[in-house]
Amino acid sequence: SSDLPLRNKIYAGLVIECMGESYQPGFTLKYIHSVLDQHPIITREQYDLWKWVASYYMCTEGEVMSVALPTGLKMSSETLISAADTEYSAHLSLSEDEFMIMEALQMQQEIPVKTIQDILDKKSVYPVLKKLFDKQLIKSREELLEVYKPKLEQWVRFSAAYADGESGYNRAIENTVRSFHQANVVQFLFGSGEEKGFPSGHICKETGADASVLSALEKKGIIEKYYVEISRLKPFDGFIEELPALSPVQEQTTNQIRTGFGDKPHALLHGVTGSGKTRIYQELISETVASGGQVLYLLPEIALTSHIVQRLQKNFGDDVLVFHSKLSVFKRVEIWNKCLGGHPVLIGARSALFLPFTGLKLIIVDEEHDPSFKQYSPNPRYNARDVAAFMAHKLNSRIIYGSATPALETWHNAQKGLYQYIGLNSRFGTVKLPEIEIINMHDKSMLLPNHASYSIRLISQIQHVLSRGDQVLLFQNRRGFAPTIRCGSCGWYSKCQHCDVSMTYHKVFEEIRCHYCHARSPLPGVCPVCGSQGLIDLGLGTEKVEEELKILLPEANIGRMDLDTAGTQNEMESIILDFERHKTDILIGTQMITKGLDFDHIGLVGIIDADRLIQFPDFRSSERAFQMMIQVSGRAGRRKEQGRVIIQTSLVDHPLIRDIINHDYQSFVERELLEREKFNYPPFSRLIDIMLKHKDPKLCRQGATEFGRMLKTKLGRAVLGPAPPGIERLRGLYHQRILIKLEKDPRIGVGVKRFILEQRDLFYENKMFSPVKMSIDVDPV
Ligand SMILES: [Zn+2]
Ligand SMILES: [Zn+2]
Repeated sequence: SSDLPLRNKIYAGLVIECMGESYQPGFTLKYIHSVLDQHPIITREQYDLWKWVASYYMCTEGEVMSVALPTGLKMSSETLISAADTEYSAHLSLSEDEFMIMEALQMQQEIPVKTIQDILDKKSVYPVLKKLFDKQLIKSREELLEVYKPKLEQWVRFSAAYADGESGYNRAIENTVRSFHQANVVQFLFGSGEEKGFPSGHICKETGADASVLSALEKKGIIEKYYVEISRLKPFDGFIEELPALSPVQEQTTNQIRTGFGDKPHALLHGVTGSGKTRIYQELISETVASGGQVLYLLPEIALTSHIVQRLQKNFGDDVLVFHSKLSVFKRVEIWNKCLGGHPVLIGARSALFLPFTGLKLIIVDEEHDPSFKQYSPNPRYNARDVAAFMAHKLNSRIIYGSATPALETWHNAQKGLYQYIGLNSRFGTVKLPEIEIINMHDKSMLLPNHASYSIRLISQIQHVLSRGDQVLLFQNRRGFAPTIRCGSCGWYSKCQHCDVSMTYHKVFEEIRCHYCHARSPLPGVCPVCGSQGLIDLGLGTEKVEEELKILLPEANIGRMDLDTAGTQNEMESIILDFERHKTDILIGTQMITKGLDFDHIGLVGIIDADRLIQFPDFRSSERAFQMMIQVSGRAGRRKEQGRVIIQTSLVDHPLIRDIINHDYQSFVERELLEREKFNYPPFSRLIDIMLKHKDPKLCRQGATEFGRMLKTKLGRAVLGPAPPGIERLRGLYHQRILIKLEKDPRIGVGVKRFILEQRDLFYENKMFSPVKMSIDVDPV
């Protein structure tokens, strides 16, 4: 039926332009229910940015809006379901889902559709709801939620009748002679001479009165209460510190950047770990702020880089605002409004890019190589580094990309002369880059008896460093206890039911878990196939490293940082704090520990298994492995003496390992670029990754073959595949990938993207393929 109330959803939208007389027939017009804002909430420039992101990343403007606008500014209509007035009896023949909804409605009057999705653990609940509508058992109601509410503070002042100075005061005192507390408040208000009065809380604290005293005074007409909007953001409460003097090298570098900006607004600051890049940023920030401009400072992950935020707050105080997705809805809206008002410095993770800047003059993309600048899913699958480049161009702002291990794309742009290049090749101060030592894990005589994952050297060096009172960082990029459980008799292994991967054994939870679909089940006591008791755990996860080291080094305090122990920001902060305060001697972690941690006492960094990083099957694996190993090595010996790094690998002759020993980015990047050029991979081409998904492998393959054929009619050899990706089945869906390699010319890109979208619409006209899902990722990383 067409009058299904669910179809009456109320949508909130932005008015972009008024078409007036130029309206073309063919659409059904709807009335605007109400106007929500009196002033525009986004700027014209922002909308242009949204449009560009949508067209470049091949998604809709609505999808961009959903990441760009903080929830507090988005309106959402919520459909509320309640039981109809008709008699409901549990004896009616209802399906299990229908029954669960009706039972829930007996306990709760109204339930939002979102909650029903949770109750049934299903995305699509509308078919079930429709059946209940048809049986006239439920009804629905729309509610438009306005989420943001300003925070108000109650203030108290003399009412107009008593605000006439001494004579008002005398009358007020006459009226309060019998109440000590009331008279106290009157005296306090008058004595202060503050016409606007004080916050109620302050008055109560100063006079010992309570809320009932104030109410009594209000009833007598002596005072009045009023409300003032206040900030939810915590003001900076430390001392503002002067910036330390620039070293000669920093001075020279800053000058170079400043001069270079004259003809190139993009700059790559390539400085080895610990070379003092932040101090140079500070200098440029301070200049930009002094001249009235706004600064956007992008960081890959706020939680892992809190020391940088703290450093900037120490120098710039309340001029710095931090914006990230973990802030409350209300705080995000407040920061949004402040940015619109021209607030000087905004720090944030990738979504901070969408804040409404009105005078942006400088963008800093710190750790620009980091893959977390890319949003993988859902749409828009954008890379904040690249969107920032477009934004700088549009808003006439300058932009600095900083890294010790620049992304190949960025390096290549600098090499071509599109960006100015500034290199900082030595550490700030006198400390040298760490010494890197390679242990050949092929050589059995090097290994610790009974603990073959560790070399004798690594363990003895850990002991040595700990005995000196320093700390150790150990990198193993695999969480859990063991990646696989296998039966020694029949070969069964812990494969996930929904994915083509093995489930990881988590000893702490006594479970096996899939890291892709989050399926979990109890650890089997015997082999589920043959009943054998000989189950073996294979491979090495951070949990096992922790357990084994506790046996090998019983005196040491050992911490672990991975998604299991540091899933929330608080957990992460407390692990970092424990390490900072030296409550932990050894910190074991996944790639989380490679990012930005800045500690003074790390004498040794150990990379337990470098082979897995290097041998990952992807054209970017060398780049990633190089970045991770150099970054984690860079945590060693940052302040005092030179640190040491031990890398355990069986690929001792691998050129990547050689470059890492020599801290030789140049050699690495030249070799890698040659490879990329030979196979025409980015940065020499652009990629568009098209993924088709369906639970039936045959239909998925058929769809991919057909879509590939359609694309090849015009794109020919630029279309690669379809082929199944490394993991073909994920979350119950089979995958087929089509890769498009494009020339770098943006004009060609625009035409090709348009063509792909047209073909996608044509593809879906074939009803057979309508259940096949498709996602498009431009510049996948
Ligand atoms: Zn078995
Ligand atoms: Zn799974």
